[in-house]
Amino acid sequence: MKYFTIPSGPFEVNTYLIYDDENNERLGFIIDPGGQENKIDKLIKENNINLQFILNTHCHIDHVAMVNYFKKKYGIPLYANEDEQPIVDNLKEQAEYLGFDIAENITIDKKLKENEDINIGNINIKSIFTPGHSPGSTSFLVNNNFLFSGDTLFRQTIGRTDLFGGDFDKIIKSIKNKLFKLNDDIIVYPGHGKDTTIGYEKKNNAYLM
Ligand SMILES: [Zn+2]
Repeated sequence: MKYFTIPSGPFEVNTYLIYDDENNERLGFIIDPGGQENKIDKLIKENNINLQFILNTHCHIDHVAMVNYFKKKYGIPLYANEDEQPIVDNLKEQAEYLGFDIAENITIDKKLKENEDINIGNINIKSIFTPGHSPGSTSFLVNNNFLFSGDTLFRQTIGRTDLFGGDFDKIIKSIKNKLFKLNDDIIVYPGHGKDTTIGYEKKNNAYLM
């Protein structure tokens, strides 16, 4: 497996482009497409990636801003947790509040359930339901080594819970009861900012001590 991190859009969402480089088919997917579409198109082309789907950790406007662009360009579906539907339904309000242009509605084509696994080439993705930042926020554990945590867990901080479906008690429970049960050496790739590890956050994240 290979991946690229592409900070995207006005809120510097970490968009991730991931693909299976051990297989001729070079199957791949995008996590949280927030912008930088030309740069991502270029990476897809240069690496011969055969894009299969978009996977969203949650559906706040900054993380879905380029969903329709990639859906149309590559004819691929959007996967997100079923509980993100109310967030998708309220995108216009979020767009106005945060100053995004969003002309069309977004559709979740495949609604993921709590522990749903996805397999693509030699890549295994486990959905870990981590509500709190939003009702359907989900972290994705890839090949049991890398955790794409969205806006749930950041380096030394956590996602805000005062906007659009947030719940502070839930986010704390999600991290303590689910993410902190994972191995300490798992690398965490968050929705914003630098990467970290589960072990480092257990020791250094003030919200969780
Ligand atoms: Zn968010």
